[in-house]
Amino acid sequence: MIDAESKIDWMEKKRILVIGGGAAGFFCAVNAARMNPGAEVIIVEKTSKLLSKVRVSGGGRCNVTHACFSIPDMLKKYPRGPQFLKKSFHHFFTTDTIDWFKERNVALHEEADGRMFPVTNSSQTIIDCLMQEANKYAVQILMNSEVKKIAEIENGFELLLADGRVLPADYICIACGGYPKTSMFDWLQSTGHHFEEPVPSLFTFNMPGNAITKLMGVSVPNVQVKVIGSKLMEQGPLLITHWGMSGPAILKLSAWGAIEFSASGYKFSIMVNWVPAFNENSLRDFIQQYRFNSAAQKILNRNPFQLPQRLWEFLLEQSGIVSEIRWADLPAKEQNKLIKNLCTHEFAVNGKTTFKEEFVTAGGILLTEVDPNTMMSRITPKLFFAGEILNVDGVTGGFNFQHAWTSGFIAAKNIAEMSLSE
Ligand SMILES: Cc1cc2nc3c(=O)[nH]c(=O)nc-3n(C[C@H](O)[C@H](O)[C@H](O)COP(=O)(O)OP(=O)(O)OC[C@H]3O[C@@H](n4cnc5c(N)ncnc54)[C@H](O)[C@@H]3O)c2cc1C
Repeated sequence: MIDAESKIDWMEKKRILVIGGGAAGFFCAVNAARMNPGAEVIIVEKTSKLLSKVRVSGGGRCNVTHACFSIPDMLKKYPRGPQFLKKSFHHFFTTDTIDWFKERNVALHEEADGRMFPVTNSSQTIIDCLMQEANKYAVQILMNSEVKKIAEIENGFELLLADGRVLPADYICIACGGYPKTSMFDWLQSTGHHFEEPVPSLFTFNMPGNAITKLMGVSVPNVQVKVIGSKLMEQGPLLITHWGMSGPAILKLSAWGAIEFSASGYKFSIMVNWVPAFNENSLRDFIQQYRFNSAAQKILNRNPFQLPQRLWEFLLEQSGIVSEIRWADLPAKEQNKLIKNLCTHEFAVNGKTTFKEEFVTAGGILLTEVDPNTMMSRITPKLFFAGEILNVDGVTGGFNFQHAWTSGFIAAKNIAEMSLSE
């Protein structure tokens, strides 16, 4: 039992404490309070801010979910946790998120890439909706209240806060988010749960001193990027930045390789195919034919691949091709170099940069210790988990928020049902 002087009195009604005032914590709290109006639901938040990631996500628009309506397709977007989510998504999926907000007069719209935002294009709409819901069902919020320890007592728990207060609870949902630092989870060790080491996911690749950075701002609509010495490979848009490379292809790779890249100290090499419709052999055939058809044209002026002109000039320069040369006069050695640079262009990565401050933690509470159908701990009854604290993370596009809504809702439903039946 926690030994502290000031105890908040036990109440007659069941008390549900939700640790964390983020997306998962709010969704759990408001739904639990609605489903069991007789319970006392309290969100305990360590900072002076609520829903801070909801506010800044999607450039202030809040990328609520993704317009993906097939569970198998959705699972492909989660480097960690797909087997777990396969069960959870049957209880609360993207369609349920859309309906939940719609029932509260918040319509979502879909962008061309599948990301879904409130039609107002303002994250404030989502925050207002969740706050109104919290008011409607009398969810209490304790701000500046950091949980330092959870102790199990007979028929419940006690939470020790940093300022010495002790909060008794019948049910707890831990929705404290993720941190790419193991020490941040120390206070959770007392619950007897185990962690997959937390590391950052969703970052861009640094290539210090590489000449490619001269092309910062150039974006290429479709490239293939492979990690040398690994099976990791992604295809999609790529953006060249001041530091190295970013864009969806790189961010997706950073998510799938989060653990591998962390182990390497963020030092590895990648191979870029700037023309993924070709491999070296098919490109050689194509160029032979192209030389024949465009023999009198200067190579610099005729870019057969619709690559950005600055990138094309860079690739020619890297292949030792001088600007005046015509297709007919391209020497075999330079042609081979160009083919290699187009299809298997190698870059050394050394370090990472956070993408627009948008990141997610890979790692967290072991999924074997949580029931995906209820979100209840398999170790400690009446203790639930929701959101990024779990070893689940998705690529960019609304997948991390969907997991927060799904896990928050399932935890709420099961807490409400259990507390009503007691
Ligand atoms: C800048 C940014 C942009 C993002 N954009 C997107 C996006 O567009 N789409 C998408 O799907 N995902 C996005 N993400 C990821 C997404 O925001 C998170 O996955 C999601 O918010 C996780 O929700 P959560 O409730 O689990 O955790 P959080 O939102 O991190 O909330 C956890 C809360 O718990 C509190 N807390 C922590 N420890 C304690 C403690 N000991 N006691 C009390 N309170 C505690 C924290 O202060 C915090 O308020 C973005 C992330 C960032 C950082």
